[in-house]
Amino acid sequence: MSGQAAADRAFKRVSHWIGGAPYAGSSQARGPLFDPATGAHSGEVDLATVEEVGLAVSAAKEAFPAWRELSLSRRAELFFRIRQLFDEHREELAMHLTAEHGKTLPDALGEVARGLEVIDFCCGLPTLLKGGFSEQVSTGVDVYSIRGPLGVVAGITPFNFPAMVPMWMWAPALACGNTFVLKPSEKDPSASMLAAHLLAQAGVPAGVFNVINGDRIAVDALLAHPDVTAVSFVGSTPVAKRVYETATAAGKRCQALGGAKNHMIVLADADLAMAADAAVSAAYGSAGERCMAVSMVVAVGTIADDLVSAIAERIPKLKIGNGLDPGVDMGPLVTREHRDRVASYVERAPSEGATVVVDGRDSAPEQGFFLGASLIDNVTPGMDTYEDEIFGPVLGVTRVQNYEEALRLVNDNPYGNGAAIFTRDGGVARQFQFDVQAGMVGVNVPIPVPVAYYSFGGWKQSLFGDRHIYGPEGIDFYTRSKVVTARWPDPAGSTVDLGFPQTR
Ligand code: NAD
Repeated sequence: MSGQAAADRAFKRVSHWIGGAPYAGSSQARGPLFDPATGAHSGEVDLATVEEVGLAVSAAKEAFPAWRELSLSRRAELFFRIRQLFDEHREELAMHLTAEHGKTLPDALGEVARGLEVIDFCCGLPTLLKGGFSEQVSTGVDVYSIRGPLGVVAGITPFNFPAMVPMWMWAPALACGNTFVLKPSEKDPSASMLAAHLLAQAGVPAGVFNVINGDRIAVDALLAHPDVTAVSFVGSTPVAKRVYETATAAGKRCQALGGAKNHMIVLADADLAMAADAAVSAAYGSAGERCMAVSMVVAVGTIADDLVSAIAERIPKLKIGNGLDPGVDMGPLVTREHRDRVASYVERAPSEGATVVVDGRDSAPEQGFFLGASLIDNVTPGMDTYEDEIFGPVLGVTRVQNYEEALRLVNDNPYGNGAAIFTRDGGVARQFQFDVQAGMVGVNVPIPVPVAYYSFGGWKQSLFGDRHIYGPEGIDFYTRSKVVTARWPDPAGSTVDLGFPQTR
């Protein structure tokens, strides 16, 4: 579909999905939806009331006993059907992402593919949910452990991965036998509604998966609801921290993933062209709206001048435009306000003492929420450009003399999501892997998002909670264990014994 055809699509209204069917919001509260490539007001999303959140939680609560009872083989079979349907609808899901988020269609397809990996992993749910068994721990006594679901769990997701991040949550949650209430970002909710339709089509029973659209009112209602047992959150750090504190104070299990400021260290021995390619790809892909985007390059020693030139040379070659158009490298930002906020960092960088090498404001298409790629050199700690998560196509470069200084920058940063090193020296790379305080580490890999059979999560202000998301830690998060101690003795030998049980 061309960019113009997308702009011509009908004005849409996105409601909720409760108890296995669409549910139109009862209040007048609506949020606007935009096509970021044209700036057009493309639709509205219902913003849930506290009562509507209650209806979704009730539907999930009602569906829980039967879902939990479903045999593992039946649930796994369902997951294979879910996998097949999501695979068949990759393109449709991706189109929603491009239409509402603005990322290019190939990038959107990449997002869907990485989400599908999590569903693939969950197809192995009978193996993932295996417990342990110890025979004869004491004479005639066996002990075994069982991993069971928590009940109704909630997921609250950000705007920048409207398909993948919900899949990080609902796929393992459902695989473990929980029922789910999803509160997607109100900026791009359509992929979640399509997910609800696909899950129903696959045969997931009514109430097992629910979508409640909304804003802070819906989030607060989920956090306060006594029947919500656990909350997964992905979003900005201030909100993540508040969600974690509120949820855990209410006795809920919570994992809250926050923002990031990912550094890419480039040592003097690195391959210059490869490092420049990686910096450009990781900084400007998805217009910098990725929590794993590289936002700071740390140039070590003599490579700095050449590296800055090599990055600057590549920027004019990036094609900026409507993400539906072929050959486009970078789409718009999600909203006008966000675009203006990101541009304000480029505006004020010179007054902070940094050097604007490439000003993205000069290369932005006029309509829509576009901003070209910016490169800012001589950024140092203390500057807003260094301290803040800008979350747009703005790459900062800071110059240091040696590895120790570079490492200190990364480890002193309050965020600890991803960190990468570019070098040809395996010994230094291994030392970095050992020294660095970040949850996801790249060695000559700028965006080290773990595959689905590992888990994703940062350290420090990038994650509140003690479990990373999806993969084995996701299975841990969505289950709790029960340990059974059993014996089948001959009743004839039974006696009264008030001593504390000991193994014999
Ligand atoms: P956000 O924090 O504004 O919103 C996230 C979710 O919280 C949305 O569903 C939103 O409706 C809700 N929300 C917003 N403000 C709230 C409030 N005051 N109280 C309760 N709920 C509220 O984040 P965003 O702008 O949608 O997403 C971008 C942010 O997400 C960036 O900081 C990015 O780094 C982060 N992110 C982190 C990861 C990760 O894995 N660590 C992944 C993706 C995005």
